[in-house]
Amino acid sequence: MQDSQLSMPQSHLDGLDVLVVGAGIGGLTAAIWLTVCGCRVRVFEAAAELREVGAGVSLGPNATRVLRAGGVLEALAACASRPSQQVVQSWDGQILVSAAPNAATDPAGYLQVHRADLQQTLAVALERLAPGALRLGQAVATCEPDARRPQIVLQGGGTIEADLVVGADGVHSVVRRSLFADEPPSFTGIVAYRGLVPRERLPVLESQSPSGLTIGAGRSFLRYMIRGGEMLNFAAFVSTPRWEQEGWSVACERSELEEHFAGAHGDVQKVLAAAPGTMLHKWGLFARRPLDRWTRGRITLLGDAAHPMLPFLGQGASMAIEDGCILARAIAQLPNIDSALDAYERLRLPRANAIAAASSARAAAVQSGRPEVYGSHLAANASVRQENLFTYDAPQLELAPQTA
Ligand code: FAD
Repeated sequence: MQDSQLSMPQSHLDGLDVLVVGAGIGGLTAAIWLTVCGCRVRVFEAAAELREVGAGVSLGPNATRVLRAGGVLEALAACASRPSQQVVQSWDGQILVSAAPNAATDPAGYLQVHRADLQQTLAVALERLAPGALRLGQAVATCEPDARRPQIVLQGGGTIEADLVVGADGVHSVVRRSLFADEPPSFTGIVAYRGLVPRERLPVLESQSPSGLTIGAGRSFLRYMIRGGEMLNFAAFVSTPRWEQEGWSVACERSELEEHFAGAHGDVQKVLAAAPGTMLHKWGLFARRPLDRWTRGRITLLGDAAHPMLPFLGQGASMAIEDGCILARAIAQLPNIDSALDAYERLRLPRANAIAAASSARAAAVQSGRPEVYGSHLAANASVRQENLFTYDAPQLELAPQTA
């Protein structure tokens, strides 16, 4: 690993057997950090290959700090973009806010990346550290938290036991379902339309800012560059009562988008017109009730499996990354697995649930389409965002066990 700052006490961890379910952003981050801490890690991923599915994700300094300490920031930065200026625009194009996201509090930087590039970078780093740890095409059907040692059962047959199981299998988590009597995720009433525009097709934008958010009534349109400026990513959010399709690559007709965004300012129309039809997709946004615990026995959850959130604060991937780092550090530094899982949950659960609630509040303000509602929402949340969200230092955070 290049430029890794990790140094962990490892003695009690040598050979600790950990199964991670899901090779998404949180699962791979956890696997990297657990491996560096001395655990023997195997990651079971349902997908047969890590394909280029999805589009852009944002990484706040709270996440890039973890990636830097884990030695993967340099490789990732080569295929990411750093926004220098972001604007917020009204439906008719007026600039309401113009801000630089790389403020003084962001030494590790704010990155915008294709999710596939992030996943691939993490997978390559894991393979280098622990060759063969990633098992593709191995969907987990269920797990058993109450056995003498925790177990996972593979869909294709076979039961595997370990010292610890980490459920990082996303918003439709089967691990979560095995641990807690829980309802399935519910549709939030918002569909995300995602598209990509290669640089050579990119029009000149009137706002002169490739990064921008446009707010309208029940509609919003977010755009930013990824891949070092080679591609513009957009996410267009539409409030709608129903959603029936499932998956991350449901194709979408341009006419559907044009209909939803008719009347929005010229930059939105230009971006929509420039996007190749093969690069337009849509998916429903799902939420789950916040959990008051993530762990049962020696099985715990992280990322969207524990705390799915709406993308309006751009923190879904960042929270999964923070989770992976803190879980591994707790396992490495605390005397046994149970005290580590206690500390992990105590440190992570309130923060993740609070950020999920703040993301929902931001969604309501954005989709209101009313600049004054959005403005007062921003004013009320500005200090929280600067002080607590971006400055959180997962690689350095004090992990002392709770005193009675
Ligand atoms: P995820 O990144 O969702 O990863 C979960 C992983 O678990 C996936 O690799 C999945 O295949 C695997 N999995 C699920 N069930 C099982 C099972 N039973 N057994 C084994 N493995 C299982 N967010 C965005 O904001 N923009 C995007 O463009 C975007 N694209 C996405 C594309 C895909 C294919 C996926 C799975 C998620 C995408 N997301 C996207 C969601 C985003 O990655 C997460 O919200 C966030 O990064 C939190 O990550 P996570 O690790 O908790 O979950």
